[in-house]
Amino acid sequence: ATFGTLSDRLSDTFRNLRTKGRLSASDVDGTVREIRRALLDADVALDVVKEFTGKVRERALGDEVNKALNPAQQVVQIVNEELVEILGGQQRRLEFAKKPPTVIMLAGLQGAGKTTLAGKLAKWLKKDGHTPMLVAADLQRPNAVTQLQVVGQQAGVEVYAPEPGNGVGNPVKVAKDAIKEAERRQFDTVIVDTAGRLGVDAELMKQAGDIRKAVDPDEVLFVIDAMIGQDAVATAKAFQAGVDFTGVVLSKLDGDARGGAALSVASVTGRPIIFASTGEGLDDFEPFHPDRMASRILDLGDILTLIEQAQEAFDEDEARKVAEKFATDTFTLDDFLGQMQQLRNMGSIKKMMGMLPGAGGMKQQLENFDEREIVRTEAIIQSMTKAERVNPKLLNGSRRLRIARGSGMTVTDVNQLVTRFEQAAKMMKTVAKGGMPNVPGMGPI
Ligand code: GDP
Repeated sequence: ATFGTLSDRLSDTFRNLRTKGRLSASDVDGTVREIRRALLDADVALDVVKEFTGKVRERALGDEVNKALNPAQQVVQIVNEELVEILGGQQRRLEFAKKPPTVIMLAGLQGAGKTTLAGKLAKWLKKDGHTPMLVAADLQRPNAVTQLQVVGQQAGVEVYAPEPGNGVGNPVKVAKDAIKEAERRQFDTVIVDTAGRLGVDAELMKQAGDIRKAVDPDEVLFVIDAMIGQDAVATAKAFQAGVDFTGVVLSKLDGDARGGAALSVASVTGRPIIFASTGEGLDDFEPFHPDRMASRILDLGDILTLIEQAQEAFDEDEARKVAEKFATDTFTLDDFLGQMQQLRNMGSIKKMMGMLPGAGGMKQQLENFDEREIVRTEAIIQSMTKAERVNPKLLNGSRRLRIARGSGMTVTDVNQLVTRFEQAAKMMKTVAKGGMPNVPGMGPI
């Protein structure tokens, strides 16, 4: 499928990264180089590749990765975010006119998939409660009018076509008449199919420009075949200069295209991708979501969810505050409890680790991690007074016995906890003074 090879190569790149802890500048450079090659091989335009890899590199070498608890995942996150940007950022929906009918004009090369799209769009709009009308203003291709009538019938929508002898050969007149007709019969959307050529030519552009002027469309959708590869950028720029368009439709995303067109057009034209076409059937069509497409390309799925959960659980500011407390010897049993609770926030840690390939060694450690331990610790600490939590030295024999009774534990459990806390605090104080920001139990996953 489209992006298949690109996805595989990016996954390989990330798989290598994931096994690393801290990332050196040369790790980052190596990764960026691999991403660059993968994008170029996928036919993404050079300018787009340069801009993309430049941003990824800059961010990957910066603080957000350096300070991240898992630098490798942070890099994946950055690549994902920049990919969403390249694809247009926010989702852009179709815009409707305040006063109907909304006029949508389709433009693009012959064979791009305009006529098919007209049917898909009409069906989709109809399902959404609109009353669309299709207009056959492609009078170049011998079969175009009939083809539009066929898709119109399939979609169950009205098709406006020139009567023989009236308007034949004059697509501008056909389009204008169609809009009057739509107003009169109260259709709320008019989709104008226009002629395409096999290549960009001046006459084609002039005709499309004339139709545009005549019908003053609310949206001009440029339909581009994802399979056209390197030509995508030149074609898109020619149409932008000739007709200008308000949005892009990527067609044939179901094919074996390498995907470069898809990754380049939004970025080089500054126009959003509004729809994606994924097959010959009228239902093979969907609004375009930059974020979903990026995840699909990166093949992340579970991994992104995992990153989010880990980031929520391990609040970095919190981690820094705790490190400071260690350094200044103000870390209390309450803080200790807070740390353990953060660990529990990660939910079923074992299940999450299962989603991460290449975390073998860590998985073993987690197998030994007992979540009930947190509950026991919590019970003990909560049976202590505020003063005791700040200064465990206040805990004499009789207090320890009461705490054990109060929490349903033994005195040995209480003693072990206090010892562990004191050792951890002592160790971390030394480490923290040496400038290492990590917290026990919170080492990199
Ligand atoms: P037009 O010349 O721009 O109007 O293009 P058409 O709508 O006639 O489409 C050209 C060919 O591409 C037809 O055979 C369509 O069935 C096919 N086609 C259109 N959209 C898609 C798509 O998303 N996926 C696939 N696989 N084929 C498509």
